[in-house]
Amino acid sequence: MRYTTIIPVLVILASITPTSAADNVPPATLPRYGLDLKVDVDGHRVAVSQTIRWTNTSRVAATKVVLNVHSHFPPPNNFVDYLFLAKMLEILRVPGSQGLYQHNPFVLKRAWMPGARETDERVAVAARFDDAMPTALEVVIPRPVGPGESISFGLDFEFDLPQKQGRWGQWKGVTFLSNWHPVVAFHDDTGWHPTPFVAWHQPFFNEAGEYEVRVRIPSDQVPVGSAVIARNADIGGGVREVVFEPTTARDFSFFCSNRFREFVAEKPVAGVTIKCIAFAEHEFYAKAIVGISSRALERYTQWFGRYPTREFRFVESYFGWNGNECSNLVMIDERVFSMPEYAEGYVEYLVSHETCHQWFYNVIGTDGYRETFMDEAFATFFAHKHLNALRGQNNKFLDFPKGLRWLPNIERENYRYSTFFNTLGRGELGPTVQEMEKYKHVGNLFSAVYDRGSKIVGLVEDRMGETAFLDFMRTIYRKYYFRVIRVDDFRRELEEYTGRSWDDFFKEWIRSNRMADWSVDGVEIQPLSGKPTLLPASIRDVFGTAPAGPVRAVVYVKQSAEQNEPTTIGFSFDGDGEKFTLRVPVRPGSSRMRMTDPPGSIDTLPDGRIRVEIELPQAPTQIAVDPDLVIPDSNPGNNYWKTRVKFRATPLYTFIDESALTTPFDRWTIIAGPWTYGPSYADAWYLRSNVLGARIGAFRSEVFTGGFYTGYRSDYRDIAVGFDGLFANPLMPKTELGIHGETSVLKLGNDSTQLDRLTVWHRYIFDETASLYNAPIRHAEVFGSYQHDFLPEARQRIAGSQVFDSLTQVGAHFHADYLTPYWDPEIGFRYDATYAAGLPVFGQSQTTHQFYQDISGVQKLPDSLGWLKYTRVAGHLWGAATTERDAMLFTLGGTNRFRGYDLKERQGSLVWGASVEWRVPVLRDRQDDILDHTAGLRNLYLVPFYDIGDAYVSGRSYGPVAHAVGVGLRADVTVFSFIERATLRLDLAKTIGQSAPLQFWFGLSHPF
Ligand SMILES: [Zn+2]
Repeated sequence: MRYTTIIPVLVILASITPTSAADNVPPATLPRYGLDLKVDVDGHRVAVSQTIRWTNTSRVAATKVVLNVHSHFPPPNNFVDYLFLAKMLEILRVPGSQGLYQHNPFVLKRAWMPGARETDERVAVAARFDDAMPTALEVVIPRPVGPGESISFGLDFEFDLPQKQGRWGQWKGVTFLSNWHPVVAFHDDTGWHPTPFVAWHQPFFNEAGEYEVRVRIPSDQVPVGSAVIARNADIGGGVREVVFEPTTARDFSFFCSNRFREFVAEKPVAGVTIKCIAFAEHEFYAKAIVGISSRALERYTQWFGRYPTREFRFVESYFGWNGNECSNLVMIDERVFSMPEYAEGYVEYLVSHETCHQWFYNVIGTDGYRETFMDEAFATFFAHKHLNALRGQNNKFLDFPKGLRWLPNIERENYRYSTFFNTLGRGELGPTVQEMEKYKHVGNLFSAVYDRGSKIVGLVEDRMGETAFLDFMRTIYRKYYFRVIRVDDFRRELEEYTGRSWDDFFKEWIRSNRMADWSVDGVEIQPLSGKPTLLPASIRDVFGTAPAGPVRAVVYVKQSAEQNEPTTIGFSFDGDGEKFTLRVPVRPGSSRMRMTDPPGSIDTLPDGRIRVEIELPQAPTQIAVDPDLVIPDSNPGNNYWKTRVKFRATPLYTFIDESALTTPFDRWTIIAGPWTYGPSYADAWYLRSNVLGARIGAFRSEVFTGGFYTGYRSDYRDIAVGFDGLFANPLMPKTELGIHGETSVLKLGNDSTQLDRLTVWHRYIFDETASLYNAPIRHAEVFGSYQHDFLPEARQRIAGSQVFDSLTQVGAHFHADYLTPYWDPEIGFRYDATYAAGLPVFGQSQTTHQFYQDISGVQKLPDSLGWLKYTRVAGHLWGAATTERDAMLFTLGGTNRFRGYDLKERQGSLVWGASVEWRVPVLRDRQDDILDHTAGLRNLYLVPFYDIGDAYVSGRSYGPVAHAVGVGLRADVTVFSFIERATLRLDLAKTIGQSAPLQFWFGLSHPF
């Protein structure tokens, strides 16, 4: 039994338009563009002459023509704007200096109109960029263009190629131009609708155009563009002329490089030749991409209709995010080609998504700025649908070599929801349709549009049934072939097709951010015979409760979030309870329903719960509400009768095992194994130690992370046992509640300490970090902590000083980290402030007050300084003080303090320190990867540094102010191409003029 809406046959017949797929033709009134490009690769400049013929298809006269020139986007001109965009690039693991430029690349030379006769001189016309929207170019025309009338004009401009990664520019020998040239803005009866540029997504909204393009490039360059190349010939003087066949496209992208090589599919698919133009060394993924895209293109052709031209291409380029749809072409980032070969499952997902954009973006145009739902949600939904059919639900992205299959894997559905539940938990889930800036950043947009949006497309399919839905999508493709579809058009088409109103659906799901939360609230199973008998031994009756033979099941389900949506209850009878062979529809609020096969009834109870009573041939192994997870559900974990838990034993347990990417999004994961831990930052209460040992942990994405452990603490040379726990959003959104405790159980050396400690903290997160290992960018927290033996025994003491065996504190801490990029900062600052009161409990003799402040900053040297621009200067200033002037509560030395001392030197009630270092790359921009690109070195720095500081007890200094010089080796490494980046550190420091031994410090990330 499967619940679907039955579409009356008549409605289907009525909606079929008399055209067939072969008749798909673009509207005759599309704008016509001629582009003539002279690309000076070495001079970083393109001279462009563009002609435009625009026809007014509205019912009102136009007195001007407005164009979107998104490449005229003004670069960030102040520190705050720059920092915002640099932080956005961090998500892509691209340093700001590689993606942000300082000059506006688009330089308009003149706008003109042809003279009255063909032989007449061109006439200059006024054209100006709108002050309020600097990417909207208004061309003033001499007379209004009435409905049905056309106007021709031209634009001559120069394009100053930024030497940065991105949509337009040059990087490592590739010249790239996408969404770069002026296109006529969308125009209708209400006038012009230009869209602003939003650098972190695709705010594009324009009619398709008919393109004729001619390009001149240096003769060593291999060209690729949005159309089939008709002529590609050396015309002498080191110049190559490339003429493209006329094509219909949403935009015209052009790329060239002397590094390009063409990889072509062995045979066309559905009449389309698929090519991948990539660097010769990237043959593996170039061929893989061609194959993946062939399979996807074949499926989409069946589902929607023919792809419009005979060639489709992928181009390797440098832009940071992984794939970018253009017309008749997809850009794939170089780092995707550099991924381990065992990650083809991920590339398959990416390429299937981007291929789908040829239908939803290129052919069916959308308002990318206000309604990117209309392309992204559809591309996401259909790519998953395609892969469900091809690979099964939730296939693994990583196909590890034998012997490494125990490594944490990434499954497709877990990848899909890895950020969604974080956005939801923070209370930042926006509606699926709204203006792009309102999402604030790309993470929120992904959650609302890709993740929740694609589920909504699935709801449409669920309501219509697959056959009718795909038939409907074919209708949409035909009707909107090289036109633009708006959300309101989509609703109207749905209503026309199904013959009923979809108004509520659009209000409740598409224009809102509502979620449903179905759950199983109770299950009763009774044997039908009345005599409970136990089954013979089988997997099912391990727990000894399942009666044999027919049963009566009573299931209570409830929906407790904002949005009610009809669903189904699934019954599983197989051993692992994963396949749901029997389904019963439930509809909130409906009156009593009776079923005959199998016999049963469905009632809505006065408290809103739904009670299903049903006779089953045998006891079910699992019962689930919405078993296919069709509905956007805020807590899919409670949709099951029997709580589902994934158990995982691993020979190497690390923090990667406890992440949303590597665990199921809808259930608990219990992990156990040998464990290694290293803190990536110091908390206000203390710095956790490196531990090598064993751990058993529990993880549920956006709910809890924690576990028990035992192991060797290298910082204290002892064996400890401990526990930790972190609850996500326990009391309110954007908060964390954490706990950690550990006690020393065995000393392993003369100088090991009996360090016991316990802390509880509650953190409010203003801004989340993009990193897998850093503290949130900006947060405030309160904490309580107890520590015993928290400092090693001091080497020297000032007379009258007081040693604190234990310290119990309650305090508050504020943290702001605007160093960017976080793994290897080029610019920015970081600030920490802590106040804590020490309480006279647990062996502490008096009340104390502690203050701690820490500020650091990094600045790269200016671009004008040649090679020196790659070096960075970093500074650090910190201090700690307590009101108990004889208390030895702080120590001067440490890994991110005065590096010339260890923790035993100079302990006091007042300490201060300062550092400056110069980070000089000795190896820059490397591609030295190991283990099939699993990890790789990018930059290696040699870092001379100087530290200064002192400590005091009762106002008396230990001696002269201490000075240390040192040198560090810092390796900027990538993990898994673009998944994560970090800096591995080794610092050596020697105090000047003293006998203190040479100090070595290891760590993850720069010390400040
Ligand atoms: Zn997309």
